[in-house]
Amino acid sequence: MFDKIEQAHLNELHVRCDEETGLKALIAIHNTRLGPAIGGCRCIPYPNDDAAMEDAIRLAKGMSYKAALAGLPQGGGKSVLIQPKHFKNRQAYFKKFGEFVDSLNGRYITSLDSGTSISDMNAIAQSTRYVSGTEADGCNPSPITALGVVEGIKIAVQFKLNRDELKNLHVAIQGVGHVGMVIAEQLFKLGVKLTVTDINQDALKHCQQKFNATVVSPSAIFDVPCDVFCPCGLGGIINDTTIERLQCTIVAGSANNQLHEDIHGQQLHDRKILYAPDFIINAGGLIHVSYIHNKQSLDEIHHKTLQIKDTLNKVFTRSTQEGLSCNVIANQLAEQILYH
Ligand code: NAD
Repeated sequence: MFDKIEQAHLNELHVRCDEETGLKALIAIHNTRLGPAIGGCRCIPYPNDDAAMEDAIRLAKGMSYKAALAGLPQGGGKSVLIQPKHFKNRQAYFKKFGEFVDSLNGRYITSLDSGTSISDMNAIAQSTRYVSGTEADGCNPSPITALGVVEGIKIAVQFKLNRDELKNLHVAIQGVGHVGMVIAEQLFKLGVKLTVTDINQDALKHCQQKFNATVVSPSAIFDVPCDVFCPCGLGGIINDTTIERLQCTIVAGSANNQLHEDIHGQQLHDRKILYAPDFIINAGGLIHVSYIHNKQSLDEIHHKTLQIKDTLNKVFTRSTQEGLSCNVIANQLAEQILYH
């Protein structure tokens, strides 16, 4: 365990069990140099305790990097709840988790993630104020995440294709859910030709009817000749089997952990495909959660999200100058902020 903590430079790992509610929770705080750690609460089944711990450490580190490069006054943290087979009382379970969060005196602020909902956040809020994403917050970060991605696509297109507008470009979107659908709508308004895929037929029909999108099967999206491939569904989709199939010049989308491994960032670089690092381009959601928690306005959220462009431009420029892949440059920039 300590090897993994050391490798990730994790500051704190907290564990809490509660027999009555069935709570088995971990809170990982990666780094609080810039401010209190912030990051979602994930509640999913895990094959074993080690897998849960590794997920918490990996995700907390990712949040530190994301917050640092978004210029937020936050550190990175994450909570992982090992989902019980049956909840005896879901409300009581999350209220108990709220007590755990509260015991850290504000060093960690929790929010939504896979397997948790707004009503879970409401239950957490009964025990702590260190939670964002409750009903009272009116928190829907997806449109802000989409805004950041569209701005990111614009700067990538300017950098790579030397074009100031997106009109008549072709973007292939993988996953038209909460974020991908807003991106599709915004790109359509900008005159972009769209190809989309999803496993949700209703979402696809909507894209066809409203945005004149071409629909392809989930497996065919990697083969679509296009200017921008925009992953907005799953993680790990840039991998050994897909990378050779890509026929785009830019990869820029909202999905977390798009690269299966760091080496795939290098392979994109070698293939002269410009990669907008996921934890920079999709930071709009985190900016939203952080600013809402700190009682800042929607205007301020927008303003901050537009700065994603500048960070990406810096990464693209340095990547070209130094001949290093964009993901390596992004990690270096984050580490510079966190450790120097
Ligand atoms: P979502 O669940 O609403 O959308 C994901 C979409 O992908 C769904 O429509 C789903 O049907 C589709 N999908 C699932 N499997 C698929 C497959 N095999 N092929 C094609 N499509 C598939 O999630 P979201 O909130 O829109 O987030 C999308 C991605 O962006 C996720 O990786 C998420 O972690 C990341 N992200 C989201 C936010 C946010 O504000 N919501 C912020 C940062 C990052």
